[in-house]
Amino acid sequence: MSLAVAIIGAGPSGLYCAEAIARKRPDARIDIIDRLPMPYGLVRYGVAPDHQGTKVVTRVFDRLLQKAGLRFLGGVELGRDVALAELQEDYDAVVLACGASVDRRLGIRGEDRRNVFGSAAFVGWYNGHPDFADLPVEMGGVRSVAVIGNGNVAIDVVRVLAKTPAEMAKSDLAPHAATAIAAAPIREIHLIGRRGPVEASFTNAELAELGRLERARPVVCPEDLPATLGEVDPALRKVKEANLATLRGFAQLAEDDRPVRIHFRFHAVPREITGDGLLLEGPGGLSRIGADLVVSCIGYRCGPVRDVLLDEARGIVANRDGAVAPGLYVVGWARRGPSGVIATNRGDSAELAERLLEEVATDQAKPGPAGLDRRLAARGLRPVCFADWKRIEAAEMQAATGSEAPRVKLVRRSDIERVLAGRDEVGQ
Ligand code: NAP
Repeated sequence: MSLAVAIIGAGPSGLYCAEAIARKRPDARIDIIDRLPMPYGLVRYGVAPDHQGTKVVTRVFDRLLQKAGLRFLGGVELGRDVALAELQEDYDAVVLACGASVDRRLGIRGEDRRNVFGSAAFVGWYNGHPDFADLPVEMGGVRSVAVIGNGNVAIDVVRVLAKTPAEMAKSDLAPHAATAIAAAPIREIHLIGRRGPVEASFTNAELAELGRLERARPVVCPEDLPATLGEVDPALRKVKEANLATLRGFAQLAEDDRPVRIHFRFHAVPREITGDGLLLEGPGGLSRIGADLVVSCIGYRCGPVRDVLLDEARGIVANRDGAVAPGLYVVGWARRGPSGVIATNRGDSAELAERLLEEVATDQAKPGPAGLDRRLAARGLRPVCFADWKRIEAAEMQAATGSEAPRVKLVRRSDIERVLAGRDEVGQ
């Protein structure tokens, strides 16, 4: 029998890893297991709903999932439905590609107040992630929003809140979020960076997009912008220069009648979230801003993986260049932390695949996919296969008929189960 690999997580790092293994070992048997019934992970639930171009990569992933030897097994959770030790018994290698989906905490007073969320939860809510369908977001009276962090996730959150329904029409913003955001009387959005504009980790295309919104205008204080860049990592000089130029352009914008203002607040360290806003500390001392909704976009950490040691300080799976234990590997954000764009994972996963293929030999005594099938059947579990996923996707596309949206996401597990209930009738 050929090499058998189980990959935990059907997001970009897991799928790119499967692609790299399959390219080098076309006979490999690769099972890609995800706790959600739907594949694509961060591409479906992290990438902003109005950045559909970034989601086109799912077409590549779809082709991959149809390759001989590869299987998608959705709705199967590691530690709940199958133990890591069982997968290690069945497969020659196991790769953890479970991402970093837990919000980092600010660690300040008031973080647990109502309408205060981390970006994993808030982005999950507007992107229709089943885990966050019932997040208690109250948009009703929200006039002022504080978005903490100066990375691209913070920009995504600002943009999704600032855009008009017409600007979001071609997106797959979850319907519950679309209704709530459209009804909110948002007037001020504060984008809060604890350091300065040069230190912000925005990429320029994302930053510049905030200058092209229908109902929202960026507001930048010219005094916050340094005359020159100063010492910066040469690899980042270009993007930093472009960002400063964009921010200078924002600083020169005249007032207009767009009703929403996006205030860039630099050198503002959040100290406390109060009932009605945020206490910030800056070079001039403490200041307060009003906020009816606070979203902290300050990075992610890997959630607990049963029987796997985490590097708590870094919020990743403890590993050495992707190796966790003999035959056990980790890849993507769970390996290196939440950095880079989707495509960054391609190189990262190819490197891991190469290492795995060098180190792991096929063990004829291991049953591979058949072993997992037996275990799941014995537990009365039926995984969601690729054809099932296509059925879910078809239902989502059907629901978008007559609109410009590419799909209306199925969010509730009961709705997903209703679609899957029909699968036996057509012989799947
Ligand atoms: P990020 O780029 O690392 O930004 C995190 C931000 O949070 C930083 O500005 C950081 O400030 C700030 N921060 C951290 N701890 C804080 C604290 N205690 N108080 C206040 N601020 C704090 O991460 P991200 O925005 O979550 O994005 C993750 C990755 O996904 C990035 O590589 C990003 O480029 C990528 N992404 C790409 C796109 C796109 O291409 N369109 C969209 C979304 C995400 P310091 O710098 O001072 O630590």
